[in-house]
Amino acid sequence: MTDPALNLEDCVNDVCPWSGDPVSGDSLTVYRGAVVGFCNPGCRDKFNAAAAAFDAALAAKEKRHG
Ligand SMILES: [Zn+2]
Repeated sequence: MTDPALNLEDCVNDVCPWSGDPVSGDSLTVYRGAVVGFCNPGCRDKFNAAAAAFDAALAAKEKRHG
């Protein structure tokens, strides 16, 4: 899912953390309130999937601890 409100100028990183290639304007997402970028949508989706998995794990843990 591409958010049209995200701009490459706002991206906090210059290169994709997966590949080291330059970030692409169509491969941005938001992490902890900041725009972060990837070299292609596949890398971004991989990150989003990982973040969602950790969010779910944290939510489950919070629930266990009340
Ligand atoms: Zn990449």
